[in-house]
This record gives sequence, structure tokens and C-alpha cells, in this order.
Amino acid sequence: MTAVPCRFFDGRTSAPREATLTITPDRKVVVALVGIESRRVHDITDVRIPSRIANTPRHLLLPDGAVCEVRDNDSLDAMRARAERDPLPAGRRFERLLHALDSSWRGAAAALAATAAILYSFTQWGAPMVAGVVVAATPPEVEAVIGANVLTLFDQFNIIEPSELDPNRRNELLAAFTEMKEDAGVTETELRFYTGRRLGANAFALPGGTVIVTDELVELAENDEEIIAVLAHELGHVEGRHVMRRIAQTSSMLVVWTAFTGDVSVAGLSIFAPDRLLAQSYSRNFERDADRFAFDYLGRAGIPPTRLGDILRRLERRMGGTAGVPVWSSSHPGAEERSRSAEDAEAQARDSAEGDE
Ligand SMILES: [Zn+2]
Repeated sequence: MTAVPCRFFDGRTSAPREATLTITPDRKVVVALVGIESRRVHDITDVRIPSRIANTPRHLLLPDGAVCEVRDNDSLDAMRARAERDPLPAGRRFERLLHALDSSWRGAAAALAATAAILYSFTQWGAPMVAGVVVAATPPEVEAVIGANVLTLFDQFNIIEPSELDPNRRNELLAAFTEMKEDAGVTETELRFYTGRRLGANAFALPGGTVIVTDELVELAENDEEIIAVLAHELGHVEGRHVMRRIAQTSSMLVVWTAFTGDVSVAGLSIFAPDRLLAQSYSRNFERDADRFAFDYLGRAGIPPTRLGDILRRLERRMGGTAGVPVWSSSHPGAEERSRSAEDAEAQARDSAEGDE
């Protein structure tokens, strides 16, 4: 510990004395007079250290009324910073608290538990809430731009190519989609066909409401009712603005995780952590909502709701865990679960129909 020289005024006599001043790591200010065995030790919190003004000498006021005049501002500030072990600005008190808690394993365990609890709560309840607010505040035009950008990216990376379906076939499906969106009252949407290439048999909704269906999916379907069932499900995602919600949820989780870990790279990893572990649950809620939307429409159109499960099961068999992760099936409940809920929906429709009679 290097001491800085200072001039010591005892507060009673006007003559200064040569002395040294040290700030110890345990936050004590030690003033030692040169030439005699005299040390004054004060707690740093009892010593008033004025702010630095360029390189003018500073006068430190000791609690007993004595004053130390220090010229070596750099050394004084360095000692003080070391002693306070506190390079953090005031706004980072939470990190300081964590650091203090880290010192004991009990504290560390408690901090970890508290952090986990807060992050879990945020991921579970906060993020969907934030996402709802963000999505409500996002104008449809902005969402449409995001969707158009996704499509451009897909195109640039050769993920999709122009559809090779027969134009008459496309027109049939477009007519069915138009009928569906008019029936459901979803106006901001359009259907587009592409060759899926790496996406394979697939259908998905983009931010802004464009629904993409691949030629491969159309070919996979055994009848039009299956395609209509898939389109109805995707229209359910459009109606709920699910894609934008997911984007907003993931982004808000990134922000919160960064705040807690103070590290963007950790937060980057954490995108996957909550997204894989917890977002799964609200992604499932979205899927259930979209299914319900689809079952409602299929019921009105006189199409058995089991058509959705039929094509999904075929899709899963076809994909069978291959490298090409299908956007559609990866984010969707298992075929078994869906078939069950479709059968429930069918039974319900039957019951209510019987009730009407
Ligand atoms: Zn879905």
C-alpha cells in the first residue's frame, strides 16, 4: 500500500506538518505524521473527501476537525477506488448485491434461487404480457414489413422457390382460402404458394398475415379438406398475431436476461434456454388457440376436424426425425395430442348438434 504525502493541519495550530495518508483495503484512512510515532485511523465514511477539481490540492476533513491537504490526486483516487472495491456506478447496485451475496455459498444459493424465480416468473408471465403490449403497439404496416423481410431472406437463401403447382390447382385453393377468411372475418391476410425445398411439406404464417404453403404440402395431402384444415390452423395464428407475439416475447426475454446476467453472450444463450424450456408452453397455447380456431371453422364448413391430425400424422411419418426440421410440425403439438383434441372437437360438435335437435 503506497501512502501519499500530505500536509497535516491539526486544527488548533496554523503550522502544517508533513504526513502521509493511506486508504487501506478495509476502508480506513490512516494519517501518519512524519518523524514521530503518531497515527490517526478513521473510518473512510467519517472522512469528507471533496470532489476533484482539475489538479488543485484537495483538503480532506477528518472527524476530529483536522485537515489533510493532498496534492497527488491520482494516487488518492486510485487508493480510494481500490478500498471501495466499488468501480460500479450507482445504477448497478443489483450487481453489487449479487457480488456481496456471492461471498458466501448460502448467499450465492439464495441469490441463484431468487434470480431463477424472477427469471422464471418473467418468462412465464411477464414476457407474454410485455409481448401483448408490444404487439398491440405495433402497427400492421410494420408487421407487414417484417413479414416481407422474412420472405426476402428465405428467397435469398434459396429456402423457397416459386411454386410449380398447376395454376388451376392454386386458384382452387385460393378460392377456399378466400371463403375461409371471409367467413372468419380475418381481412389482413393472403395465401402464397412456394416450392418448399429445404422446408419440405410445410405451411406457416408470417408476421403481417401472409400464409405460406409449400407445393410439397399440397402434394402430401390426400384431399383438399386436409389442406383447408392446415390453412385454417395457420389463419388462427394470423388472427392471434402469434408470430409477432413470439418475436416480442423472445426479445423481451433477451433484454431481461441481459440485465440479470450483465452479459450479452450469456443472454444470447439464454434465448434458447427459456425459449426451449418455457416458451414451449406458450407456443403450445398458441397452437391450441390456432387449433380451436381451425376446429371452429371446419365445423362451420362441415369438414371433420380430424383432417388436421390426419395430415400432420402423415407429415411426421414423412419427416421421421430427418435433418430438415419442418417449421410447421416442430412448433406443433404431437400428432397424437392433436388427434385427441380433434376427436374431442368432433364429439363436442356432435353433442351440440344432437342438443339442438
Ligand atoms: Zn401452428
